[in-house]
Amino acid sequence: MIVEDSPTQALQLQAELERQGWLAQCAGNADEAMAEIHRQPPDLLVVDYMLPGMRGDELCRQVRMNISMRHIPIVMLTSDEEEGMEVRGLDSGADDFLLKSTDTEYFVLRVRALLERTAKTSSLLRPIDSHFKRARILAVDDSPTYLMHLTALLEEEGYLIAHANNGPDALKRVDEDVFDCVLVDLVMPEMDGIEVCRRITSMRERLDSPIAVLMLTGHEDKDDLTRALEAGADDFVGKSSDVAVLKGRIRALLRRKFYQQENQRILEELNKKELEAAHARAEKEAAEARIAQERQRHAEEVAEQLQKTKAELERFNEELKQSNSELRQFAHVASHDLQEPLRSIISFCNLLQKKSADQLDAEASDYMERIVKGALRMKALVQDLLAYSRASQEHQNPYEPVDVQLALADALANLQGSLNDTQAAIHCEPLPVVWADRSQMVQLLQNVIGNALKYRAAATPEIRIGAEQHETTCEFYVSDNGIGIAPEYHERIFEIFKRLHNRTEYPGTGIGLSVCKRIVERHGGRIWVESAWGKGSTFRFTIPLHHHQENENVSTACLAAS
Ligand code: ADP
Repeated sequence: MIVEDSPTQALQLQAELERQGWLAQCAGNADEAMAEIHRQPPDLLVVDYMLPGMRGDELCRQVRMNISMRHIPIVMLTSDEEEGMEVRGLDSGADDFLLKSTDTEYFVLRVRALLERTAKTSSLLRPIDSHFKRARILAVDDSPTYLMHLTALLEEEGYLIAHANNGPDALKRVDEDVFDCVLVDLVMPEMDGIEVCRRITSMRERLDSPIAVLMLTGHEDKDDLTRALEAGADDFVGKSSDVAVLKGRIRALLRRKFYQQENQRILEELNKKELEAAHARAEKEAAEARIAQERQRHAEEVAEQLQKTKAELERFNEELKQSNSELRQFAHVASHDLQEPLRSIISFCNLLQKKSADQLDAEASDYMERIVKGALRMKALVQDLLAYSRASQEHQNPYEPVDVQLALADALANLQGSLNDTQAAIHCEPLPVVWADRSQMVQLLQNVIGNALKYRAAATPEIRIGAEQHETTCEFYVSDNGIGIAPEYHERIFEIFKRLHNRTEYPGTGIGLSVCKRIVERHGGRIWVESAWGKGSTFRFTIPLHHHQENENVSTACLAAS
């Protein structure tokens, strides 16, 4: 990247660099350059010292302060030969400082050297070297006087200086010790600076620390410069140059070396961190994959288990249905068939009592009465069992809209005898139409009202019947002023054969309410009692108002469960 405010000069430089096969772009000022460097860092910067706004040395400083840019080599250009300019340029972080009037070939040579050096050293850098140590310099010259002069100069700068009087000695020292920079005289007997430089270049690969080489010459000659750069020297300074320039160039070389080292160290650290992060990410992903796999396996196992359980459940349900149906059939047949012999026993006993009354003594008559009572009780039991088994039967009658008002009328007609005997008062609110089995609705009402009459207290029975409609169901109630039920029996009275009284107090089989429960549950409803001992009872039950698929399912489920 060329940073130059004069478009003509910028174009000239661009053309020259592109002739060499490089790709060059131009920026008119430092700000524009910074933005572009941020976007896409170039391999090298050629910066004009005198720029409008931010000056070239300031741009250099900014580039050096930025971790992602500081490795970029910088060639500073200036048009005048103002005293101290070169040193200022180098100190701001430039790697090279050239006059604009410099020969183009020379310019290209320096650019090439810088580019090559960047490529080479970056691969040689090791993180162990520290930026903060004192730089070690090996000065190689056959003139002890010059060496002394150089040592004095450089020690002022805080460097550690070692000497070698000839090429072979210098190479030995470089091999054995660690140096940051070698200053080598071009002209020496035995082995000249070019050869020393070449050999150091070939050693660079195996050296622990990168080493910068600065060639010193009696007089600056373009050919020498070319040879030196080709041999691997990083810079080239005339011995006659200003001392400050020599110092500035050494500083620039060392700074550059340290920047590169530090950059490399940071890059390696970043790479390491990135690698660690990638590793951690991979481990996390693997763990997640394992967990997902485990979950999947578990889900499959559960699904399989569920499938098995479902199949088993279906089988059990089927078996249960089968056994329920067999049981119902058995109960039905048994109770049906038992009625016939019972009827015979009762009628023959009656016959015997009538025809042979005078032949039977008191004891025999008592026995006969007991036989008849037993048979009648058996008859009641058989009939109730039959009712219970019917109530459990699946779809004995189809469900239909049932006017409960009419069902109640039927139930009351069936209870007419008891109603007359007890002089009971019936108060009834209007009742709705529900979706039900009609005969079962009659039976349900009949059982509950029958109990209200049977379990009456001393007062004349008063029975209230009514209903409250909810969204999908209707809640019916039958309340009486009878003897009431203690709370601890509120659940148990709905179990089959559960009675709270003996037969001498109140006749009954203990089946009536269990039939009611069956009927209500088969309709998808619920039945319960609200009562206290001596305070009368209110039986409540719910029945759906309309046909609903679920009711059918519920009733099937209830049936299966029973
Ligand atoms: P049963 O009437 O044949 O004994 P149920 O199943 O109809 O059998 O009733 C179970 C028990 O619940 C009865 O023995 C009785 O103790 C009690 N019961 C039922 N209805 C009433 C009621 N209206 N008032 C008081 N107790 C009742």
